[in-house]
Amino acid sequence: STALVLFRRDLRLADNPAWSAACAAHAQVLPVFIHRDDDGPWPDGAASRWWLHHSLAALGKSLRDAGAGLHLRRGEPLEILRALITSSGASAVYWNRLYEPATIARDKHIKSALQGDGIAVHSHNAALWCEPWQIATQQGQPYKVFTPYWRNLRPQLQATGPLPAPRVPGWRELPGSLPLAALELLPRIAWADGLAVSWRPGEAGAQELLEIFADDAIGDYAHARDLPARHGTSRLSPHLHFGEISPRQIHAELDRRARSIDAKRRPDIEPYLRELGWREFAHHLLYHFPRTPTDNFNPRFDDFPWAPADQALLERWQRGRTGIPLVDAGMRELWHTGWMHNRVRMIVGSFLTKNLRRHWQHGARWFWDTLVDADLANNTLGWQWVAGCGADAAPYFRVFNPVTQAKRFDPDGVYLRRWLPELAEAPLGLLHEPWRDAGLLRRSGYPAAMVELGESRQRALEAYGALAR
Ligand code: FAD
Repeated sequence: STALVLFRRDLRLADNPAWSAACAAHAQVLPVFIHRDDDGPWPDGAASRWWLHHSLAALGKSLRDAGAGLHLRRGEPLEILRALITSSGASAVYWNRLYEPATIARDKHIKSALQGDGIAVHSHNAALWCEPWQIATQQGQPYKVFTPYWRNLRPQLQATGPLPAPRVPGWRELPGSLPLAALELLPRIAWADGLAVSWRPGEAGAQELLEIFADDAIGDYAHARDLPARHGTSRLSPHLHFGEISPRQIHAELDRRARSIDAKRRPDIEPYLRELGWREFAHHLLYHFPRTPTDNFNPRFDDFPWAPADQALLERWQRGRTGIPLVDAGMRELWHTGWMHNRVRMIVGSFLTKNLRRHWQHGARWFWDTLVDADLANNTLGWQWVAGCGADAAPYFRVFNPVTQAKRFDPDGVYLRRWLPELAEAPLGLLHEPWRDAGLLRRSGYPAAMVELGESRQRALEAYGALAR
């Protein structure tokens, strides 16, 4: 019998439950990717599209090496699947689940339509340790706080089980596959050079990063993960988002290596697993609270007096021209590489929502377009956390001070100098607060600070105080 396997954001052959199940049960498997132009309220941003193009190229090559090929299409998934079922004689369709509210609704519709046609539909979990609906509080409710969530999930995790890439039983080419370029995922203007030197999308690129991280950085992760100048984190986030690697694979590999090292020097992998736990928690929240990509989790913030939208001001933030070095360094890192260090994400987010008092949605949308790891669950959690309106969020009154943060986490100014070439020669004392020397600003062309940090913080606290009353 023949099965179609619909690839979406599970762009790998190893530990891919839908792909393995189809290969085990059918004589012929036909891998398909369907790109939808009109993909719900959160269509992929420009950086994600760049990534997807290269990831599909990598998957296509892996499939060819394995004796199959990736059938590429563009349009309405149900229509295309039905046409492919007719032309191939397939009796079953396999896919791995996604968790965005609009995608869940669409998948349910496709599943019941195909089942109505007499086709078997098999959906699997490739992305998460645990399905969002499989974990609940003692009262049977979804979790809203991370620590008890993690206390429940962590003991259930096992460091075993990732599936090897299966042997392809049989494959034949179906007519009508598009060339990859016809999906038009790449930008028309070549702005993505910085992305190309920073990343290698695809399953092999993900495994390579995991090895680098496991060889070296994992041992110092608890400390170095806060230092933006260092490669102290795994940088696996875009690979995880596109399903080029799974949490199960990461866990198994880190555990295997840790066990091979004698107990005294064995790295503690728990702090890293906990971060993957936040990713699970973000998916749990998105599943149970599907309106949170746009609505405040905490409705008290519906009355918050955000300052009115101001495009010019927003653009200064987006382009890294606020005059606050750590904020600008982060925003430029994002623009050039499609990624920003987690601590700096928190700081640029705090600056936007507190010092500039702009709605967190402005930040979430910009991140959505520019991050290669843009992920509806993680981005929503991150922005609601920073703005103080989320589940288990930083309280609004905790305003990050970008100067103190820079002095603490980039004490030698390595990160600031890397992304702010105008200030490369500035002495360390001024690098953190360049506004203290008007001559330096004039000579370097670096902008004056767009707000005074202490005063804008005070105004944010007053706005919050009014809300609290
Ligand atoms: P590592 O430290 O190596 O962590 C390993 C993995 O754990 C990450 O790849 C990621 O999948 C997960 N993870 C780590 N921290 C978090 C977290 N706080 N929340 C959820 N998952 C986490 N992450 C995204 O993947 N996509 C986003 O769109 C996104 N938007 C964010 C927006 C804001 C305002 C903030 C504060 C954080 C956001 N994050 C987002 C979370 C975090 O910043 C990134 O996951 C992390 O920086 C990715 O780098 P890494 O892979 O080296 O992380």
